[in-house]
Amino acid sequence: MSIRMNRKVKRPSPDFSTLASETIAVRAGTRRTQEFQEHSEALFLTSSFCFDSAELAQDGFAHAEQGFIYSRFTNPTVSMFQDRLAALEGGEFCIATASGMAAILTTAMAHLQAGDHVICSRSVFGATIQLFSTILGKFGVSTTYVDLADAKAWQNAVLPNTRLFYLETPSNPLTDIADIKAISKIAKKANALFAVDNCFCTPALQKPLSLGADVVIHSATKYLDGQGRVLGGAIVGSKEFIMGKVFPYVRTAGPTLSAFNAWVFLKGLETLDLRMKQQSANALALAQWLEKQPNVERVYYPGLKSHPQHNLAMRQQKLGGAILSFVLKGAKQASFRLINQTRLCSITANLGDTRTTITHPATTTHSRVSPEARKAAGISDGLVRIAVGLENVNDLIRDLKAGLKSSG
Ligand SMILES: *Cc1c(COP(=O)(O)O)cnc(C)c1O
Repeated sequence: MSIRMNRKVKRPSPDFSTLASETIAVRAGTRRTQEFQEHSEALFLTSSFCFDSAELAQDGFAHAEQGFIYSRFTNPTVSMFQDRLAALEGGEFCIATASGMAAILTTAMAHLQAGDHVICSRSVFGATIQLFSTILGKFGVSTTYVDLADAKAWQNAVLPNTRLFYLETPSNPLTDIADIKAISKIAKKANALFAVDNCFCTPALQKPLSLGADVVIHSATKYLDGQGRVLGGAIVGSKEFIMGKVFPYVRTAGPTLSAFNAWVFLKGLETLDLRMKQQSANALALAQWLEKQPNVERVYYPGLKSHPQHNLAMRQQKLGGAILSFVLKGAKQASFRLINQTRLCSITANLGDTRTTITHPATTTHSRVSPEARKAAGISDGLVRIAVGLENVNDLIRDLKAGLKSSG
């Protein structure tokens, strides 16, 4: 028996509500085993947990949300990640899921029923639109899509059975901004739950709950990991919604985050603030440089003064984020030539990585959208999206310079 076990002193933990995000990101949520007092969060690869008696097992099952029974619904590593993310977003509780899409599905399944109506931004992740229209549509849930930047359109779309407002801001890939505060007022009046997908900004740059959202959704796959390794998702909100509705759904349906992935996210969160600041700074420098290039027609980046919603973005977000896009003169041919000429930028679908990624939305992420709808959404054939990483920005500029020359 270790000497520690005989000591009854319990060191008080800090009051995280008084501490800054940078501190919360490295410290909040950590729990140590009594026997080992490990410094770094332990990875609990176990499907279930033991009880000392049948009576204790009975108690455990009666209060499943409090103890550890079975990793489909409770696991210490997953709990540590959930608690840290809840603290970062300023929410009461968090439940983690196997992917970002599982987080969105879980929110919908926990909150909606047949006959309900959803208002969703038109500019959300492609799979999110598929989920609302194709899958939830099968179960009698209808969805109206609106322009995320047009508060009146949200108001006009409200029906007596509207139960959910859903958006992500900035939008992908055109970086349109939704006024979270203004839309939250409309949602409240309509008695609808207001969910914001905070994937692009993360709590390091934007805290939707403090602006009036009810629920924050994450694809942890992106910046929370930040290094392109594992898939995961999360839902943050009030105790009533998360423990009353989301937890029972996840416990029963099983879209659970694995302990291993939760452990990776815990490590990712520790550097979240530094990464978001540096990647935003790199993106701003790159966007400013791109604006000066003769072959570039237009640059979309919230941190640029030329962005039509620059003031709103800077009120709502700490920085512009790491995603930018731009339109090349010369359409698809020029875009492909630019992408093919780069040597550093990865040609891949993921974003939120320390490595810069480059994509041609019209033929990849938005290729399932009809050409007319693509045009209406502003996804032209000359549009290129860059998710800026942690490389030296001058190296990135040199990498793009060669490609821009050959695209002109
Ligand atoms: C990637 C992404 C998702 C889906 O997340 P997965 O982890 O891939 O399931 C949802 N929303 C946004 C904004 C995303 O970028």
